[in-house]
Amino acid sequence: MKIKFGLSVSQEERSVLTRILVIFLAVLWGVAILTPGVVAAKNVVEENAALLSTFAIAEYAHLRAGDPIPLDVEYTEQKPINVWGMQTNSPWLTTWVKKIVPAFGYEKVCAVPKYPRSIGFTPNPGYRSFHIAGFARPFLADAWLNERFLIDGRWNDARDALATLTHELIHLQGGGYIVGEPEEFENRTQAATVETLAAMCNYGEETACRAFWQEYEGYTRIVFRLMLEDAGHGDWYNRIANLLWRDSMDERAAEKASRFWAEDPDQLDYIYRAYYLGPWKIIQDGVLLDVPQDTGIMNWTTLGEIYKLQMPFDDTGVLLRPVRLLLWWSR
Ligand SMILES: [Zn+2]
Repeated sequence: MKIKFGLSVSQEERSVLTRILVIFLAVLWGVAILTPGVVAAKNVVEENAALLSTFAIAEYAHLRAGDPIPLDVEYTEQKPINVWGMQTNSPWLTTWVKKIVPAFGYEKVCAVPKYPRSIGFTPNPGYRSFHIAGFARPFLADAWLNERFLIDGRWNDARDALATLTHELIHLQGGGYIVGEPEEFENRTQAATVETLAAMCNYGEETACRAFWQEYEGYTRIVFRLMLEDAGHGDWYNRIANLLWRDSMDERAAEKASRFWAEDPDQLDYIYRAYYLGPWKIIQDGVLLDVPQDTGIMNWTTLGEIYKLQMPFDDTGVLLRPVRLLLWWSR
């Protein structure tokens, strides 16, 4: 299952404004660190290094993610078609499945990659329609993306659809992606999604690059939000996000979502910590400390020795190289 919180963005003149702001902050930071006399400023910067770094990473990811990529694809609704033994209602999905699934084997997401039996777009009722981007049923070997990707302008974005498809296909690989507490296997699935998108990006898939940065922006923004909330400045998040990362449509949608979640703030906090902070930490350890992800999947060497497959974050590390120092400071 993949959750969505309206992170679609429009850049336009925002990028210029934010570049100026980031450069200003960087200069301020540099001056504060390098000038021994400016003790007060230095303290402020040092105390807030994690917060400022996380903000800067979010901004960098936002710029790299770019604008939404229109998703205008063939869709046969309830009339499935057969593509290489897979049932689908959109060949856009099966074309990507054929690119994503082999990458799982190459990137050590799993030992023997499995294709889905069915892959399609589907409408979801009620709450699920607005917040659930996709779901998978490993026991049936099928995966579904929310039809809103095709019928709702606010959802129409190939970056998000690709990330959701990758996520649901990883659930179908079993092992640690379906076993344990939901937040545990969702964390592992999210982390593996990011690494798979990074791998496809490094292989030359531009849509995967943009999807990678959009996913990473999503995590970083929520972590930034949680840091502000923990520091007692939670109300600043929306002001900053409205200024830098949202257009007026996004702003209204975010406000609407916050009215929905106001009834259950604890559940929202749980979702943020379980589904965003969790993978962010796994990826950070993977990139900075070379800690691979335990896939929970067994594999055999050519000599017949059994071992648990470990997934490294090498491709994510390559893409995050420009912000590596900020990543250290954000810890
Ligand atoms: Zn999931």
